[in-house]
Amino acid sequence: MSQTKVALGRTVKCPNCGATLEITPDALAYVCKYCGWMGTTEDISTKDWLMAEPTSQQNAQQALTDFLKKNLKHVYTQSALLEFKGQAVPIWVSKVHAHTRYNGYRQETRTESYSVGVPDGRGGRRSEMRTRSYPVYVPVRGEFNEVLSYPVLGRRHAVFFGLEELKKRALISEVKPLDVKKMLGQKIDCLDVDLEESEARATAENLAEDEHRDRVESMTTKIFDCYTDDEVQSCRLVFYSLYTAKYSYRGKSFRVTLDGVSGTVVKAELPMTLGLRVGYTILGYVGIGLAAVASLLLGNTDQPLVAFVPILGGAALAAWSTLKATSEQRVKRG
Ligand SMILES: [Zn+2]
Repeated sequence: MSQTKVALGRTVKCPNCGATLEITPDALAYVCKYCGWMGTTEDISTKDWLMAEPTSQQNAQQALTDFLKKNLKHVYTQSALLEFKGQAVPIWVSKVHAHTRYNGYRQETRTESYSVGVPDGRGGRRSEMRTRSYPVYVPVRGEFNEVLSYPVLGRRHAVFFGLEELKKRALISEVKPLDVKKMLGQKIDCLDVDLEESEARATAENLAEDEHRDRVESMTTKIFDCYTDDEVQSCRLVFYSLYTAKYSYRGKSFRVTLDGVSGTVVKAELPMTLGLRVGYTILGYVGIGLAAVASLLLGNTDQPLVAFVPILGGAALAAWSTLKATSEQRVKRG
C-alpha cells in the first residue's frame, strides 16, 4: 500500500493499473475498482482496515427475487430488474467510554386520603373520607459509567436508501482484515473515505454525551448538573457491503437495498397495488362518515368539544387514507 497525494477533483489515475477513477473531491482514501490498489493522502493510513464478509451477488439476487415474488404476488411477472450493484460503505466503528454524573429532581404528584367531620343530618356528626393531591420533589442523582458503540459513516455526503438501518449492523457483525480482492471478486466497489478518524472520534463522543443527557432528561423534571467525561477506546474502519437494486413496475422504478453481509432486504419501495388502493379508499370513506356523524351530533350537544374530537379525527383519517390511496409507492423495512 503506497502513499500518494490524492489530486483534488473528480478523477485520478490509478498508479498501479492506469485506470481512470472518479473520486469524491475530499477523498482521503480510495480503492481502485479494477485492481484493488488503495490510495491515501498523508492524513490517513489504510493499515488495520476491516470488512464484514460479504455474501455473493447470486445470494443477494436470489433474496431479492424471493422478496419481490412474496410482496408483488401475481403482479411479480410485470416487474423487471433494471440495476443491481454491490458497494462497500466505510463505517468508523467507535467504542466510547463515557462517565456521566448527574444531579437534579423529579416532580411527582402524591394523593392522600383524610377524614373530615360533616353533619349527619340528624343533629350529630359523621366522618367522611376526602382526597387531596400535592407535589413532591424527589432528588435524582447518580452516574452512568459504560462503554457505548457508535457507527459513524466514513463519508460526508453519502445518502443511501436504507443506510441508517444498515449502519447499525456494522456494530454487531463479525469483522476480518479488509480483503480488496475478495470485494472485487464479488463485484463490490469500496467507496471512498472522506471523513477523518479524528472527526469520527469527536462525533462518537458527542453521541455518547447526547445519549446520557437524553437519559437524564427522561428521569428528571429539572437538571442541576450533568457532566460527561468521555474517551474513545477504539475507532476502526469497517467496510460494510450492501447491494442496491432498481426494478421497474408499470413504467415506474422502485429501489431496494439489501444487507450485503446477511443478504436480506433492509428497505424496499413497493408499488401501491390495486387491492391496497381499494382498502385505503374504503378507509377514507369511513373517515368522512365519522366526521359527518360527529358534526350532526354537534348541534345536539352542550359539550361541543366532545363532538369536535371525532370530527377532527374523521377528517384526519380521510385525508391520510386519500394520500395513501393516491400515492405511487409504499416503503417496507426488512
Ligand atoms: Zn487500479
